[in-house]
Amino acid sequence: MVANKAVLEERVRHLEQKNALLEDYIKRLLEARLGIDFLTGAPMRGIFERKLEYLLMSIRGERPERRAESVVELSLAFVDIDHFKSVNDIHGHAVGDKVLKSVAELLMGSARESDLVARWGGEEFVVLMPGASADVAARAAEDVREKLQELRFPFLVTASFGIASSKDTTDEKTLCSFADKALYQAKRLGRNRVVVYHP
Ligand code: GH3
Ligand code: MG
Ligand code: MG
Repeated sequence: MVANKAVLEERVRHLEQKNALLEDYIKRLLEARLGIDFLTGAPMRGIFERKLEYLLMSIRGERPERRAESVVELSLAFVDIDHFKSVNDIHGHAVGDKVLKSVAELLMGSARESDLVARWGGEEFVVLMPGASADVAARAAEDVREKLQELRFPFLVTASFGIASSKDTTDEKTLCSFADKALYQAKRLGRNRVVVYHP
């Protein structure tokens, strides 16, 4: 009788664990379908790409019906956490995940209402800033860069930023490649800095 009770309790525990895993799995699936990144709660790259395409069409004058509310310029910031692999290697993946969450929170908390912060993938984020010139975007990025250093981890969290503006191109892929080039330059110059793309 006692043994039976123990067996039953063990089965219940097992079922509860299985249930929790399934619930977690379903939540991940649902969020992925909505385009939300499970870890950080930030929109995923696809959402960013759709919004960028829509806004650039408007800037190119391909949406005349929306001219009254259209933007004339936008800027992008590519954000990449510095030496993030070492964070995982030294402090563990779980701490790495906490850093990712904190960086996403800070980016989303610092963004204007019209901005879109998305997780590009891995330890990279992108901030879409409709109406912002490269200078305005660079100042916003600089603010975030400074705030990042105030995050409370037993090590310094820094990131590099690459800025590009639709003044230089209104083609989606080219604009992203410009922001990426600027980011690469920021890394090359020693990281923890903001670089604006200049053609
Ligand atoms: P750099 O300063 O040049 O950007 O160097 P880095 O180490 O940040 O760049 P690298 O591309 O070498 O490493 C990125 C690391 O990010 C490797 C990968 O394991 C880790 N990573 C990607 N996604 C996640 C995630 O969701 N959670 C955690 N903990 N790590 C992740
Ligand atoms: Mg990277
Ligand atoms: Mg990195």
